[in-house]
Amino acid sequence: MRKKIVAGNWKMNTRIADGKQLVEQIQAQAGKLDSHQYVIFCAPFTHLSEVVSNVTNENYFVGAQNCNNHLSGAFTGEISAGMLQGIGIKHVIIGHSERRQYFFESNELLKSKVDTLIAENMQIIFCCGEPLEIREANNQNDFVASQLSESLFHLSAQQIAQQVVIAYEPIWAIGTGKTASSEQAQEMHSFIRSLIQTQYGDEVADSFTLLYGGSCNAQNAAELFACKDVDGGLIGGASLKAETFVPIILAMP
Ligand code: PEP
Repeated sequence: MRKKIVAGNWKMNTRIADGKQLVEQIQAQAGKLDSHQYVIFCAPFTHLSEVVSNVTNENYFVGAQNCNNHLSGAFTGEISAGMLQGIGIKHVIIGHSERRQYFFESNELLKSKVDTLIAENMQIIFCCGEPLEIREANNQNDFVASQLSESLFHLSAQQIAQQVVIAYEPIWAIGTGKTASSEQAQEMHSFIRSLIQTQYGDEVADSFTLLYGGSCNAQNAAELFACKDVDGGLIGGASLKAETFVPIILAMP
């Protein structure tokens, strides 16, 4: 069975005390996960070392929302993969559309972050997804294929299988309340899986975890997660409260 994951992206929200309370409430309410199910709380950098000690249930993890592509050096204000590892963090989101848009992160830069994270033995949640005008022109497949081939598909089969999950997040659905329909999500996920199959073969493609992100909530999670090629979600707004996040965790197949 494929790994199922629900990851919460807190973005630049919460103070440490809120974060600690949130992970305690969520673990208490969502309870024990099956062995193939995982929950990852992607908290702000300042919270990570504190919040990680409040995450005690099996298969619950704390992750970061970004890291620098260099191993170390004169990069004022930046955080390296090694620094994250040093406080017990294994998972990192990269390529979120907000970083691509507001911090001008290119496919080329993301390739370099991917290489650093692979070298540091970290787990990557790699985000991809098209803006509205690309969807309206029906060019979403080419757009997403380029994002993946330019940043990820240089990896070996072993690296991608063991250290990467992909989150498909159509930009028009992020934080807008406008979710992709389950048909749109399934169609894109099936396309991404076919790209992985072409690049890496059936075994890697069949076992690869693909998450959906974009206004996923307690009401639509079960329908989205029931799609054959959707293996969970990357959740923004709804990950900030136990009452909205726990039902999404419980919707994981
Ligand atoms: C996100 O930012 O990754 C996201 C999916 O946000 P939201 O759930 O709020 O649309």
